Amino acid sequence: MIIQPKVRGFICTNAHPQGCAANVREQIAYIQSQPAIEKGPKRVLVVGASTGYGLASRITAAFACGAKTLGVFFEKPPTDKRTASAGYYNAAAFEAEAHRAGLYARSINGDAFSDSVKAQAIETIKEDLGQVDLVVYSLASPRRTDPKTGTLYSSVLKPIGKSYTAKNLNTDKLEISDITVEPASEEEITSTVKVMGGEDWELWMQALGDAGVLAENCKTVAYTYIGDKLTWPIYGHATIGKAKEDLDRAARAISTSGRAAANVAVLKALVTQSSSAIPVMPLYISLIYKVMKEEGTHEGCIEQLYRLFTEGLYTDTPRLDGHNRLRMDDRELRRETQAKIEKLWPAVTAENLFDLTDFKGYQEDFLKLFGFGVEGIDYNADTEPQVEAEFRA
Ligand code: NAD
Repeated sequence: MIIQPKVRGFICTNAHPQGCAANVREQIAYIQSQPAIEKGPKRVLVVGASTGYGLASRITAAFACGAKTLGVFFEKPPTDKRTASAGYYNAAAFEAEAHRAGLYARSINGDAFSDSVKAQAIETIKEDLGQVDLVVYSLASPRRTDPKTGTLYSSVLKPIGKSYTAKNLNTDKLEISDITVEPASEEEITSTVKVMGGEDWELWMQALGDAGVLAENCKTVAYTYIGDKLTWPIYGHATIGKAKEDLDRAARAISTSGRAAANVAVLKALVTQSSSAIPVMPLYISLIYKVMKEEGTHEGCIEQLYRLFTEGLYTDTPRLDGHNRLRMDDRELRRETQAKIEKLWPAVTAENLFDLTDFKGYQEDFLKLFGFGVEGIDYNADTEPQVEAEFRA
């Protein structure tokens, strides 16, 4: 079939297998251009391993540390009529590249919130790895079924306490207008914490610990975003921020349990399938791209992850804040950088969008997430949507 992007609102409903594979190879090449991480982990479980920060974590662990990796994700396989989701193609490409490099890599494609996927992961670790010395928790999901009660919880992206009106960019129609988001109800706040808070991370660590598959000096890390004034009302101080605060509680509980040394890592804002769904974020990211590219401080997922391993997880001098979080958002949150964005923010209009912001870079990165706009790929060529992949399910 001819595979060209089908964008609907803030999602793209198809993906290009060769484009996705090229993206994975590009990230591997970046890691191979960096010094190897000698003190890095050797057996790694990544939950949420197929796209965004989780994929970059897996690539860093494998190609900078030489680690054997087990990846867990929830992605759509291809059919004869439909392409797979991007994460499916990414994971297939990652496994192929890892195997070519002589590295163990296996994956489970299923609901990480379920008891059965946790049990499968434990079984695979026991069979193949014995134990793991790093667990990366990088899930981003709009809903979660509680495995104990069967209740389905949905998360919302809403402010807390009062409504919030802000400038918003409609990335499809290229219109800029004010949007007002009504405050979340108590029930919505609780549900968002259930989905994106630390409970499932703790359940993973409990299950792995009880099964004896966590190595003695095992580390675990979960990811958060904090941001600054412009995004606080919809992120940091909103429902998602509340859920992310719960990660701090979970990190303390996991560390106290003695199962693993747990940290939350604060990463920078980037275009991923999850962040493009958050109101205000696309415009903020377009501005931060512009400013940080001009400053020479721009980073993608893979650059952030290499720094997380070398300046956070596997160094004797990690950059921790007062809440024991590893800070990789140091460049984004520099006072001068934020001041430039705050100055540009009120001036942006639909007419000057491409001058004042790097919306072009945002759009390119967005399409690239799905394997489109990648150099060297012929998007008019007849392309086979099926790829070889042997994921457990
Ligand atoms: P993403 O959408 O690119 O990746 C989400 C991953 O979770 C995918 O691998 C997907 O398959 C997996 N997943 C979702 N539901 C699942 C389920 N039920 N079972 C198994 N796997 C499932 O998201 P991302 O932006 O890389 O986010 C990862 C983490 O990083 C999140 O905690 C997010 O809050 C955090 N973070 C993101 C940003 C950003 O700007 N994108 C910034 C800082 C922190």
